[in-house]
Amino acid sequence: MNTHLTLGDIDVEVVLKDIKNIHLSVNPPTGKVRISAPNRTSMDAIRLFAISKLGWIKQQQQKLEAQTREAPREYVERESHYLWGKRYLLSVQEANRAPSVEVRHRKILLSVRPGTGATRRQEVLDEWYRRQVRAAVVPLLEKWPTIMGVRVEKLFIQKMKTKWGSCTPERQYVRLNTDLAKKPVECLEYVLVHEMTHILERHHNQRFVEIMNGFFPNWRLLRQKLNESPLSHVEWEY
Ligand SMILES: [Zn+2]
Repeated sequence: MNTHLTLGDIDVEVVLKDIKNIHLSVNPPTGKVRISAPNRTSMDAIRLFAISKLGWIKQQQQKLEAQTREAPREYVERESHYLWGKRYLLSVQEANRAPSVEVRHRKILLSVRPGTGATRRQEVLDEWYRRQVRAAVVPLLEKWPTIMGVRVEKLFIQKMKTKWGSCTPERQYVRLNTDLAKKPVECLEYVLVHEMTHILERHHNQRFVEIMNGFFPNWRLLRQKLNESPLSHVEWEY
C-alpha cells in the first residue's frame, strides 16, 4: 500500500509491505523521501520515525541539490544561454545607453553600460526572461481558464530557487518561475495547468492526478523534460 505524509515542506512517500524493519531513503535526482515499513505499522509511528530523521533527510537533500546545481554563469561573451529550450551564445556589447537584450540568429545580444558587472548583467537578462514568460503566458491565460473553469486572479512571474511554480488556492494566485523561459515552451503550459489544478485540489493526491490526466494527459512527459534537461537547477515533482 502506498500513501503520503507531509512534514513541513517535505513530502514523504510511505510504502507498507511485508518487511521486518522501517527503511528510509532520500533518492536522486530530486531528493524524494521514501519510507518502507512493515505492513501493520501505524502512521503515527511512521511520522515519529520520520521526524526523528528530519536532520538527516535535509542533509541528504542538500547534498543532492548541490550535485545537480548548474555551473554559475558569468555573463560573458560566447557563454551558452537558453531561450524556450534552444541554446544561444551570449554576445555582450558595452554601450552608453539603457541596457537591452535582443535575439539575433543563434545569439542573445546583451547591451550594457561599460563596466557593468556579472550581477547586473544577470539582472538585465532575468528581467528580459521575465518579459518572455509574461508574453508567452498571455494566450495560455485565454485558453486554460475556459477549458478548466478556473480563474487566475493574479499571475506573478519571479525568480524562484526551488520551484517552477506555486499557487495560493484560496486567493487563486499563481506564481511562475522566470527560468521557465529557458525551457521548451510546453513546459510553461504544463506548469501553469499544474498550478491552476491546485485551485481545484490543493494536494498532490489521486484526485489531483486525475484532474491533470483529464486536462493535460502528457504532463508526465513534460515533468520529465523539466527535470532532465541539463540546465535544470530546480526539480519538479508533479
Ligand atoms: Zn503542485
